Amino acid sequence: MEEIKYDYIIIGAGAAGLASAQYAARGGLKTVVLEEMTAGGQATQIAELENYPGIYPAINGFDFADTMRKQAEAFGAEIKQVSVTSIDKKDKDFVVVTKKDTYIAPALLIATGAIHRNLEVPGEKELTGRGVSYCAVCDGPFFRNKKIVVVGGGDSACSEAVYLSTISKDVSIIHRRDSFRAQKAVSDKMLAAGVKPVYDSVVKSINGTNKVESVTVENVKTGEQSELACDAVFIFTGMLPQTSLVEMLPKDEGGYIITDENMETAIPGLFAAGDVRSKSFRQIVTAAADGAIAANSAKKMINE
Ligand code: NAP
Repeated sequence: MEEIKYDYIIIGAGAAGLASAQYAARGGLKTVVLEEMTAGGQATQIAELENYPGIYPAINGFDFADTMRKQAEAFGAEIKQVSVTSIDKKDKDFVVVTKKDTYIAPALLIATGAIHRNLEVPGEKELTGRGVSYCAVCDGPFFRNKKIVVVGGGDSACSEAVYLSTISKDVSIIHRRDSFRAQKAVSDKMLAAGVKPVYDSVVKSINGTNKVESVTVENVKTGEQSELACDAVFIFTGMLPQTSLVEMLPKDEGGYIITDENMETAIPGLFAAGDVRSKSFRQIVTAAADGAIAANSAKKMINE
């Protein structure tokens, strides 16, 4: 197992990690990004990225993320597809162990993001891949002109419902309250696109033998249950931060890593950026900003 020395190690190649890599490498730091999946993170699953300042008209999220990757590499950052197994601190350096090699650097960024939260109802696990999905761009086209149900009321649910409404005219959104959590512009656009809201309701089960056939819906105000026939259920009920590598760090009540305004955690030289970090507004643009700030802080720390 080889030990490789860098100035700055980034774990996670989503918007935060790639932006940080670009800033760090451009600023002269020998930078590596370790990512177990394909680079790009959640952005790759966005059908139409329409709110990133300076990108107009809207572009596909995959193309956007791929350009971020190319830009980071063009400035000299290395991106490696490996799985990190542990993080340790030895003297002034962080030791990042992967299944292949060991990476050592005085500055380390956690940009591991967040993954989707399951609905945890009967039928969800059994019918995943058979009509139950967590990615509209990946699976939406399989349900052209079919009956589609979206679950959730945040930005993800509403913006993905807009995308699904371009695939089918029969899209319903089931939300447990009578107002959406999503930004108003996003929920207004969804309603204007003809998505049918089912307010004050929760999904009790997803039904079907080999594929999704219906959902059982309960009105939380009346307790009344009904069956809604459908071919697909897209679940967007929030995210879970990926923090298993840094259990020792202080987190907020949602499990997100607490940092200061320089993106530094409670451990000097250990930074966090993007959706894994405790903050009030999770967007690609705020993830990229976090990453840029973390790179600048790492550079300052190394120079000192
Ligand atoms: P979110 O903002 O946490 O929203 C999750 C939604 O799911 C909420 O409406 C919540 O209902 C509902 N929910 C949670 N658990 C549920 C359950 N067990 N049953 C039924 N409903 C449940 O998550 P998100 O939409 O994935 O967004 C995550 C972050 O990414 C947010 O900060 C968001 O702003 C950002 N984002 C931005 C964009 C964009 O700007 N275009 C796109 C996607 C995501 P309640 O409202 O009642 O809690």
